[in-house]
Amino acid sequence: MLLGCHVSFSFDGLLGSAKQAYEYGANTFMFYTGAPQNTLRKPLDEKYILLAKQFMKEHGIDINTVICHAPYIINLANQSDMQKWNFSIAFLRQEIDRCLQMGIKKMVIHPGSAVGISHEEGIKHIISAINEVVRDKDIVILFETMAGKGTECASTLEEVKMLLDGVEDIHKFGVCLDTCHLNDAGYDMKEFDVFLEEFDQLIGIDKILCVHLNDSKNERGSHKDRHENIGFGSLSFDALLAILYHEKLKEVPKILETPFVSKTNDEQKREYPPYRFEIEMLKQKEFNPALIDQIRKYYKNA
Ligand code: FE
Ligand code: FE
Ligand code: ZN
Repeated sequence: MLLGCHVSFSFDGLLGSAKQAYEYGANTFMFYTGAPQNTLRKPLDEKYILLAKQFMKEHGIDINTVICHAPYIINLANQSDMQKWNFSIAFLRQEIDRCLQMGIKKMVIHPGSAVGISHEEGIKHIISAINEVVRDKDIVILFETMAGKGTECASTLEEVKMLLDGVEDIHKFGVCLDTCHLNDAGYDMKEFDVFLEEFDQLIGIDKILCVHLNDSKNERGSHKDRHENIGFGSLSFDALLAILYHEKLKEVPKILETPFVSKTNDEQKREYPPYRFEIEMLKQKEFNPALIDQIRKYYKNA
């Protein structure tokens, strides 16, 4: 079972990320190579990369399962400003180089939003951009399934398939299933085998290379994209557990992107990472309704 979570990259880069993941009881992880909402990057420190690799080896984290998440400010579907679009391509290529420098070979990307254009048009733009992005790069790009908030592309398997059908080198591409997004897009995660069958028929199960394991604050088909802590949302603990331990997804890393817990019930102030507790609960295979209070207690006393 490969279970990890989103971790910070801001302390000693990859080394800090790996240490944080291990501390949470994870055996894999996902990180952003810098602030996801901007394009400022500081150069990587080779010393920390070596130490990170050593740390991972010694603590049972296989670097081949580690995932990078592309910054979400990038919108490859929007070609209205060609200068911006070209910048996005160049920036992503630079992010890929950073990944390769660390030995990370998989990058998840939100495909894009079709602002003021049709989804078909948007998908065409994404395809031509992404073919440029991966040119000469030894990387695997994972298109994330989206909730369909606003004008987001890839909230249906048909659109994900359109993307994959358009790429020049299919070996450089895969899919990242986000369970919250799929629920919000209308897919029934409580009937995961039905979903998996549909995915297999349309795209092929071997293309699933990552799962974002999240509960959802909203009902199926809401197109909202608001993540919830494991077992506290509309997907249910049992449905998420079944996905985590699914026979056919054994080799696929599952990554938690669940919300931080607030000190009080203040939605704005989210300070306590839930991952250590959610990972433990998922390993125990039993839902703990008192989890949120336990997280608060733990961090208050820490
Ligand atoms: Fe994402
Ligand atoms: Fe996600
Ligand atoms: Zn989301």
